[in-house]
Amino acid sequence: MQNAQERPVLDQAELDPEFPRRMTRKAWGENLRRCIQCGNCTGTCPLSEYMDLGPRKIISMVRSGNKTDVLKCDTIWLCASCYECTVECPKEIKITDVMYALKQQALDAGHTPRSMPLPVLDREFFNIVMKLGRSQETWLMALVILKTNWLRGLDLAPMGLKLFAQGRLSLLPDPIKVGTGKKGDLKTIMDACDRLDKEEEKEAGVSSH
Ligand code: SF4
Ligand code: SF4
Repeated sequence: MQNAQERPVLDQAELDPEFPRRMTRKAWGENLRRCIQCGNCTGTCPLSEYMDLGPRKIISMVRSGNKTDVLKCDTIWLCASCYECTVECPKEIKITDVMYALKQQALDAGHTPRSMPLPVLDREFFNIVMKLGRSQETWLMALVILKTNWLRGLDLAPMGLKLFAQGRLSLLPDPIKVGTGKKGDLKTIMDACDRLDKEEEKEAGVSSH
């Protein structure tokens, strides 16, 4: 993937004017307009040197509506949610929450970098839990390896076999009931969350993508 810093600057027509509003709402009403671009967040972030865009730049790009580059950058997947930036921000902007909201938005939009296992792990974990009602480590590991770097699977095979031999991994799923449509059921709760999300977006007058 082309590094976000190497891509040409987007022109006005490519910016999404609704994006800042949507992200503000998704990040629990965080007011990004307060940002004074001081750079404290990037300066204190322990991972900024590995990011293609620092947190300061992310906030600036969200405010300008540069959804295209923000949702495709590696930064949001590298963020370790350590809250250093949030603690150091003089304007008390909850940058970590913004990063989290961006991750969610990127997943919804299908932007998950293949080279990074974390988003694939998130998505597959969610899919398995929605199907079985709980996680299944063997399937999860296999899917993440196959969908990211299957060659790595060859390195991990001896360890996997050892874990099987010790009874620490199982091939058989051990599902609990999901999707019975009863109050408290996992699928019912997730459907209700989706519904609430859509209603809030409708009230706020923004579209979900
Ligand atoms: S520390 Fe806060 S005010 Fe400074 S650039 Fe980062 S988000 Fe903006
Ligand atoms: S929460 Fe994320 S962006 Fe903020 S300092 Fe930690 S790793 Fe960096």
